[in-house]
Amino acid sequence: MRCPGSRKTSLSSSGYPVSCAERRLALSNALPRGGVVAMLERMATTSLPVLFGRVPGVNEGDTFSSRQALYNAKVHRSLQAGIAGGAREGADSIVMSGGYPDDRECGDVILYTGHGGRGSNGAQVRDQNWSSPGNAGLVLTSALRKPLRVIKGLAIKRGKATGGYRYEGLYHIVDFWKVSGKEGFQICQFELHKLHGDEESIPPPRPRPVIETEAEQRVRRLVAAREEPARDLRIVQRVKELYRDTCQMCRARVVVAPEGQAFSNCAHIKALGRPYDGPDILENVLCLCPNCHIRFDRGALQITDDFQVIDTLEGRKFADLYRVGEHHIDVQYLGSHRSRWPGRMEAWLTGPN
Ligand SMILES: [Zn+2]
Repeated sequence: MRCPGSRKTSLSSSGYPVSCAERRLALSNALPRGGVVAMLERMATTSLPVLFGRVPGVNEGDTFSSRQALYNAKVHRSLQAGIAGGAREGADSIVMSGGYPDDRECGDVILYTGHGGRGSNGAQVRDQNWSSPGNAGLVLTSALRKPLRVIKGLAIKRGKATGGYRYEGLYHIVDFWKVSGKEGFQICQFELHKLHGDEESIPPPRPRPVIETEAEQRVRRLVAAREEPARDLRIVQRVKELYRDTCQMCRARVVVAPEGQAFSNCAHIKALGRPYDGPDILENVLCLCPNCHIRFDRGALQITDDFQVIDTLEGRKFADLYRVGEHHIDVQYLGSHRSRWPGRMEAWLTGPN
């Protein structure tokens, strides 16, 4: 595909052909600000994937001459927006250029004003909201407990950095709220704390009030979907019905109410979620009592391909797995389960039994 402006900038100063992104950037620098430039910048913004945390080769205190230089170094993935990122992937960096009178800094703590609600002259003319991409991105970053790169504009004059930019290091988002700003409109504000430990040490954000905005609900669903794969409740119900809550291993039926209701667990043979990624299907589940469930999950009970339940700690057969006709169990999942504790079943699988 030919890029706009390719005739003019087909070779870089080093003599190598330049990439499409470089052409777009060169063009956006050359043209006056306007719709085409904004469009090119949006394209440029989305061409770099989200990258949380340190950028290899960039150190705290490093300075950059321009937004272009920040972009080229992958420190801030947007040429114009103060917040890089959006609701889908989270925000990975912010640039503070002094344009927001409610921004505060005290030691390692920054109060950062979110995005939106500004008129063409830069003044606040409307309330901000959580669904603006930048704000929603920061909310998601907080929920994911990811670090945020903070960049400061230098020699700020009338909301513009005239002395370049400095990379201030990694922060984490501790809390966020809405407040009436100095210009009389509601603003979204974020409390950022400098990260002194490594990126894995980010504590959970402060507990949120129960009332959630629509954006927060969406974020919560996104986080839940990443952390724990949603379980198909129909599968859970089906396996419990098939066995009437009777444990397939010890055959106990744990009755919990005078009317005879019983309690059982739906246990996945090849575990759900990373790193196992077992499927949520009937062929990969068992109906177990809580005791057998925890012993199975920890490998103390395992199952051979001919459905014998083995007590691997005592090295003896525990039971034959109870199965009803309609329940087909796929033996490949039994094998994956056993492979998590290499050697423990070896004697049993290869011995004279
Ligand atoms: Zn049991």
